[in-house]
Amino acid sequence: MPEIWHPFTQHGLGEPIPEVIRAEGTLLHTRDGRAIIDGISSWWVQTHGHCHPKIVAAIQEQAARLDQIIFAGWTHEPAQQLSKALGDFLPSDLSHIFFSDSGSTAVEVALKMALGYWHNLEQPRSRIVVMEHSYHGDTIGAMSVGARGVFNRAYAPLLFDVETIPFPVDDGANSISALQQLCEGSEPPAAIIVEPLVLGAGGMLVYSPDILRALADTARAHDVLFIADEVMTGWGRTGTLFACEQAGVVPDILCMAKGLTGGLIPLAVTAASAPIYDAHFSPDRSRTFFHSSSFTANPIACAAALANLGIWRDEPVQQRIDHIAARHRAFAEQLAAHSNIADVRQCGTILAMDFVDTGGGYLSALGPQLLRFFADRNLLLRPLGNTVYVMPPYCITDEELDALYLGIEAAAAQFAD
Ligand code: PLP
Repeated sequence: MPEIWHPFTQHGLGEPIPEVIRAEGTLLHTRDGRAIIDGISSWWVQTHGHCHPKIVAAIQEQAARLDQIIFAGWTHEPAQQLSKALGDFLPSDLSHIFFSDSGSTAVEVALKMALGYWHNLEQPRSRIVVMEHSYHGDTIGAMSVGARGVFNRAYAPLLFDVETIPFPVDDGANSISALQQLCEGSEPPAAIIVEPLVLGAGGMLVYSPDILRALADTARAHDVLFIADEVMTGWGRTGTLFACEQAGVVPDILCMAKGLTGGLIPLAVTAASAPIYDAHFSPDRSRTFFHSSSFTANPIACAAALANLGIWRDEPVQQRIDHIAARHRAFAEQLAAHSNIADVRQCGTILAMDFVDTGGGYLSALGPQLLRFFADRNLLLRPLGNTVYVMPPYCITDEELDALYLGIEAAAAQFAD
């Protein structure tokens, strides 16, 4: 029998791999009878909670009616309805919706759209500007625009070169001026891609809406396309539906995935402004946007996303988000008492902190120790190196939040030295 090779898992360490047999709300029920609090929304995908009945019903209904259909030159009702419904959630400038299957593919699509735009305008540009510590996915293009490190060292020969601006410090002048310099170079960049407000896998690093706006303004002033990767930040994580809203920024291209279906089933959207679509619109077939994958706009996934939008409309989702944010803020103050916890930061439903460590970055020995410590307490918190963060589904109860906070305080006490 073939053995399963798990992602981001070093099987050589012999770590136990728990089996989940059922999930509901914030809880993961394991084969050995434990109920584990999902403090990281199962890799940031779950928004309303596991197995939300409205999304489950939409999936069941759609699966029985139309399961899958080629999307090149064909269409179906769930995709049409979803595109129309997304119109109520997105800025009107993002007038075109391109479907794919994951956050990484949403990013690949964005990069191809940007280069296709300049190519079709007959002003070829190929340079892409990225932010230090970024993560945009694990496919080759997405890795190319992400930070280089232990994750992708072996694949470096496959990655294309990018220009990197530093992560913003203080008022972000370091980042903004670096972008300005790159934009004013002899060969202007095609686009800049950023994770707005919070850099996720790079360590839950937070920067301000003012800086985001200044970066977008700088790009716009130089006619450089602004790509917002909201794969992690989108669907409420930072306190607003999309992080860009807090900065009053409308990107030229916006990537979303994860919470688009409430986190139940894979689907991604790359939303683009009219000029980008128009540059590809032509009777000339060579100007086609050449991208697809087999399951593009899968009807079942579109039905799930449509049900997700219904939940945003009909349930007090924003209230739940605001409540989590308020609880995080209060707990963050409490954490100040722990001398071995540094740089506590919060943005909406995301709370992160660094456990003081002697080093090692992502491969810090503390990370696996903390993971095990939390797992032993039936908490799913998966540190990024020595950074512990909480990013719960919005249905989380006060008692479940308390359990997460208590677990973190216990870890702070346990790993004090
Ligand atoms: N972009 C960002 C900001 C992400 O955080 C992630 C995944 O965590 C991705 C892209 C890649 O998404 P996926 O894992 O669905 O390919």
